[in-house]
Amino acid sequence: MEIRNLLEDAVLSLIDELFATEEKDKRLGFCTCGQCRLDVACYVLNRIKPEYIVSSRGLAYRERDSLERVQRRADIITTAKEGWARVSHQPRATADHALQRIVHDLPEGPAFNFPTVMGRAFNGLNFEPLASGEVRLLMDGKPLPMVDANWQNPFVLAQATAGTFIFWPRPQASKAAGEESRFAFELCVEVPGFDPVSHYFELDLASDRAAKDEFSLQRVHKIPDLYLFPR
Ligand SMILES: [Zn+2]
Repeated sequence: MEIRNLLEDAVLSLIDELFATEEKDKRLGFCTCGQCRLDVACYVLNRIKPEYIVSSRGLAYRERDSLERVQRRADIITTAKEGWARVSHQPRATADHALQRIVHDLPEGPAFNFPTVMGRAFNGLNFEPLASGEVRLLMDGKPLPMVDANWQNPFVLAQATAGTFIFWPRPQASKAAGEESRFAFELCVEVPGFDPVSHYFELDLASDRAAKDEFSLQRVHKIPDLYLFPR
């Protein structure tokens, strides 16, 4: 059993669409870097009312009134543009908008491409998103290297992103395209004054012909919401 927010998938694919269009025709004049894409996704997800379902594979999508669906799509687009206007071209503490698409030192030849790993951390007592603290993504007990310096590990939780954390692990070299391997990850959340929480997960991956250096919200591994309790 799995609790899913139906809107999350709709929001992520709609934002990918908006960014792809803007990359092509540049009508809005907004930045289309990976970091802005994420910031816009967080902005929208934190403002659109979630719609949860319990399902084993997300098939239980209730058919909705089409008018309502069209309206919801319009709402998501409006909110996305609002958030995009805000984050686009804004100076960033850790990242340069222009640097996002240039990724150095990726392995040459076949590689295992990891999805981005995304989740949220909440205070288990009042369900408020955690706005401080650190999240680490580990493999074999060591922090996993990220695709480039704009992606931090540990990820620092902040007010602006409302408990959301995200990682894009650096691709790993593989012997031949199509090689299959299982990777075990540990995610540790540490927030001052709270008991730390660890979440373990595994991904079965087949390697690709080359390392991917292009960010897409479609390749996201979502972690179930994590709850921390005050000490
Ligand atoms: Zn940007």
